[in-house]
Amino acid sequence: MPKTMHAAVVTAFKQPLQLQEWAVPRPGPGQILVKTEACGVCHTDLHAANGDWPLKPAPPFIPGHEAIGIVVALGAGVTTVKEGDRVGVPWLYSACGHCEYCLSAWETVCDQAQFGGYTQNGGFAEYLLADPDYVARIPAGLGAKEAAPLICAGVTTYKGIKETEARPGEWIAISGCGGLGHLAIQYAKAMGLLVCGVDIDDGKLDHARRLGADLVINASTQDPADVLAHETGGGAHGVLITAPSLPAFKQGVAMTRKRGTCALVGLPPGSFPLDIFNLVAGAITVRGSFVGTRQDMAECLDFAARGKVRADIELQPLTAINRVFERLAHGDVPSRVVLDFADPPAAVAADSHPDHALVQQVSA
Ligand code: NAD
Ligand code: ZN
Ligand code: ZN
Repeated sequence: MPKTMHAAVVTAFKQPLQLQEWAVPRPGPGQILVKTEACGVCHTDLHAANGDWPLKPAPPFIPGHEAIGIVVALGAGVTTVKEGDRVGVPWLYSACGHCEYCLSAWETVCDQAQFGGYTQNGGFAEYLLADPDYVARIPAGLGAKEAAPLICAGVTTYKGIKETEARPGEWIAISGCGGLGHLAIQYAKAMGLLVCGVDIDDGKLDHARRLGADLVINASTQDPADVLAHETGGGAHGVLITAPSLPAFKQGVAMTRKRGTCALVGLPPGSFPLDIFNLVAGAITVRGSFVGTRQDMAECLDFAARGKVRADIELQPLTAINRVFERLAHGDVPSRVVLDFADPPAAVAADSHPDHALVQQVSA
């Protein structure tokens, strides 16, 4: 086991990540050490690096919550995973297991929850620690790179679709057809729904069509609420807003059919106005949805293992992270970038100081 590892680190908000050499962490009691094979880059990582949300992570920290890797070391008392297992280290890094939310299978909203790549160091590094009770079990036959986007983008959209309560044969509108949205379209089709993809980029909408969307709307040239009302006879039964953009939220609620549910998943900082009369008179539900539980994770991975859903991935090395963030900020990532750890950056002199996390700066 090497003593040091490469990591892309947020050292200050709104600044480029630094490629650094850190000591490989040692698993404490109840923890495991995972050797990263691949890690997806979620728009949430960008929000994290920008300090966008009221609950802020504390720099220096290592982002990344779509990490897939192999268990290489067990801390004392770990019995539920073994060395050699392939696991995913997701956003829901751990929870208390005892509160009313944990006891009712809502561990995603546990007050004590820790978040991967946010309150705990994540997968933009060659190794990371994890809680064996909260890792995703990657089904045999699913490769690390293709599994990576599923453990955030996949589980979040699968859960969000369920939260809309739209039933087979009904319409769901997916607002934002990027990393989350391209998987949402596939889950929704696999769940028997009629799908409308909404985005502001024609390339994303062409892709949505190829993935099976029955209808697509460019929200920058057409009013999606008008088009949907006309095409579906009253709007979508379910709406899933994944777009990291405030205008999409007002539009998403307006796209919702009477008695339908609009699930909010995208997380742009800020707030948006709700039209009280139309919500009340239309008996419309607006609901937040936050990643998914461990059971949702198992279900969403099973869809992929059965070939019903497949993430479209673009592989990049860890050293490309700042360029990937720039593209993500400008909507220039077609679906999902996955950092591939098969080809690690060139080794730097391992003059290791294991007592300090940071060993030395590496120029990218
Ligand atoms: P992404 O950048 O890959 O995709 C965003 C898509 O939204 C792009 O296709 C973009 O063209 C489109 N878009 C931008 N403005 C739009 C508009 N006005 N109308 C329609 N589409 C628009 O991002 P992603 O990784 O899919 O993440 C999306 C959001 O979801 C982020 O805010 C992220 O933090 C959030 N997120 C939330 C959860 C959760 O648990 N609730 C989990 C993961 C990600
Ligand atoms: Zn994510
Ligand atoms: Zn709890």
